[in-house]
Amino acid sequence: MGIKIVLKSGKEQSVRRYHPWIFSGAIKKIYGDPSEGDIVTVFDNKDNFLAVGHYQPGSIAVRILSFEDNEPDTEFFRGRIRSAIEFRRSIGLIDNQSVNVFRLIHAEGDNLPGLIADFYNGVIVMQMHSVGMYRIRKEIAGILSELMGNSITAIYDKSESTIPFKAGIAANNEFIYGDSGPVVVTENGFKFKIDWTTGQKTGFFIDQRENRKLLSAFTKDRSVLNMFGYTGGFSVYAMKDAGLVHSVDSSASATDLADENVKLNFGDDSRHRSFQADAFEFLNDIRNKYDLIILDPPAFAKHNNVLANALQGYKRLNLKAIELIKPGGIIFTFSCSQVVTRENFRKSVFAAAANTGRNVRILHQMSQPPDHPVNIYHPESEYLKGLVLYVE
Ligand code: SAH
Repeated sequence: MGIKIVLKSGKEQSVRRYHPWIFSGAIKKIYGDPSEGDIVTVFDNKDNFLAVGHYQPGSIAVRILSFEDNEPDTEFFRGRIRSAIEFRRSIGLIDNQSVNVFRLIHAEGDNLPGLIADFYNGVIVMQMHSVGMYRIRKEIAGILSELMGNSITAIYDKSESTIPFKAGIAANNEFIYGDSGPVVVTENGFKFKIDWTTGQKTGFFIDQRENRKLLSAFTKDRSVLNMFGYTGGFSVYAMKDAGLVHSVDSSASATDLADENVKLNFGDDSRHRSFQADAFEFLNDIRNKYDLIILDPPAFAKHNNVLANALQGYKRLNLKAIELIKPGGIIFTFSCSQVVTRENFRKSVFAAAANTGRNVRILHQMSQPPDHPVNIYHPESEYLKGLVLYVE
């Protein structure tokens, strides 16, 4: 038997409730000298088997792969990956004419902690968040190409900046299988150019697909401001029937992408303009200019110790939008911080509204789409939350 980890008394409870993380503070003793990414077996204080997982020095010491006493070998991973693919097939995401961009594997949400894989019209972009998964990336790519068959042309590994830097592994972003330049994907009939080598994350914020679709119901003849626009996802949907659409991002490469994607769908259309600007500054000057505002900022809080600051940030941002939007305006507001709960986010927006004194109704509560499933035992996997507001 390999490395054995014994938990302190009482610390087995969350594992018995199938939470997939073991924090370093829960560990009583490690038998052996595990390297980063090794498979370890976890026991309670009375030597009862609990789980097997990937070891990682740091706050999350073990990412659990299985609560059963089985070896996480190729057959094991093939089973998990097959299950992720079959689920997406069952909800109609695979071989779909109007959507060929989706998340194929969503880490804890698919019982594969540390592993993300996104599908872009035949190209899979993988991103590993643990050394355990990074070490078996070629095996995983092999399973993916076997199970997806002819529907994929290439698999790209983009883990350089996501595997823990302490590991001292000089990871290079590279193709593991096949080769491909940027591709054009279709999402609900709209086209987007995806360049995973230069883009943020794996290249696209796939998780907003259904919220972008919901936006279409509100855009007719409106003046739309898409803050933190990145690839212009929301802008493209709005261009269908809005009066004007402005995309704002602090990054010039993002505003270029938004322009390119609008052009891909609508040609040269003077209704759209991009602005490279800081969101907070831009918002100072928008009084009565817009009647639909999208606020989709990057995660303000990556850790619990900065939670209070993050909540203040959401409050400030939403306050400006609620205060300055035209009467009868609509706001799509989001938080993608894992440590900010739905309730906390709503409280920040509530505090912002109260400061303005305007009448605000909540029309929709938004979340992440089913290809980003939430593991019911791992509440942290519910990271995306949003509200659609009507401001009288
Ligand atoms: N709404 C996008 C995703 C947004 S990601 C989509 O649907 O695809 C967040 C974006 O905010 C990034 O593109 C980043 O460049 C931008 N950003 C970060 N800080 C900013 C700031 N202070 N002002 C404006 N944009 C900012």
